[in-house]
Amino acid sequence: MRSVAANKIRLQKLRQEGMMTVMDGGEEDRFTKARERMLRWDLMGRDITDPDIIRVMWEVPREEFVPEQQKSQAYADNPLPIGMGQTISQPYIVALMTQQLRLNRQLEVLEIGTGSGYQTAILGKLVKKVYTIERVGELAASAQAVLSKLGITNVEFHVGDGSCGWPQERVFDRIIITAAVPRMPEPLIEQLKEGGTMVGPVGGGGFQQLVVCKKGPDGLTESVVCDCRFVRLFGKYGFEEA
Ligand code: SAM
Repeated sequence: MRSVAANKIRLQKLRQEGMMTVMDGGEEDRFTKARERMLRWDLMGRDITDPDIIRVMWEVPREEFVPEQQKSQAYADNPLPIGMGQTISQPYIVALMTQQLRLNRQLEVLEIGTGSGYQTAILGKLVKKVYTIERVGELAASAQAVLSKLGITNVEFHVGDGSCGWPQERVFDRIIITAAVPRMPEPLIEQLKEGGTMVGPVGGGGFQQLVVCKKGPDGLTESVVCDCRFVRLFGKYGFEEA
């Protein structure tokens, strides 16, 4: 974990670069302060050390991705309902999963579970291209509208069962699953490039484990990052709908 001093320097740098502005009053001011609090305590105060992730989580206005009645809670340290029985993940979990992927501008990423599109936006600002699959058409449409409003254009959307992978045959440098799976879906393992990394919550009960898989010449190696709690991924290689 980075030191408190290093994190303070990073916050100061964001301010100097004009990325953090302290304004007077008003809703925008409240969101700005809430975002700064989130960065300081919920991300850097834990183990989020990647400066690019901290920068993009400063740049992306999370309040745009939550329903009107949830906006005041947009930067809270927990998931929030986004309608259709689904949630936008806790900011720390978004940052942690992103950090596990070790991203750069050359990579193409497949995301399973677009949801609100917040994680999609964070990925879009860090990589060459994001391919994202959402099962609920209304959520995909709303996410697409927000990303377009924010000018994030390197994202391809698909509505369908993401447990079956991207509908066209292709492989990805990174794969992120944003809902719980009973085990890593076989089609996703197949669509992960050799040398690639996949992250997602695995487990059947109310709680899961956040698992990182790396694909090498001899197959997958898995490691557990932490316990976590996600909504379920329903689909052919996910959970069966009740
Ligand atoms: N990362 C998202 C965000 O930032 O808002 C949160 C994703 S939410 C925790 C999980 C999403 O997975 C839900 O939107 C849900 O509809 C979607 N989902 C569930 N099963 C799916 C499947 N088989 N294929 C694609 N998406 C699925």
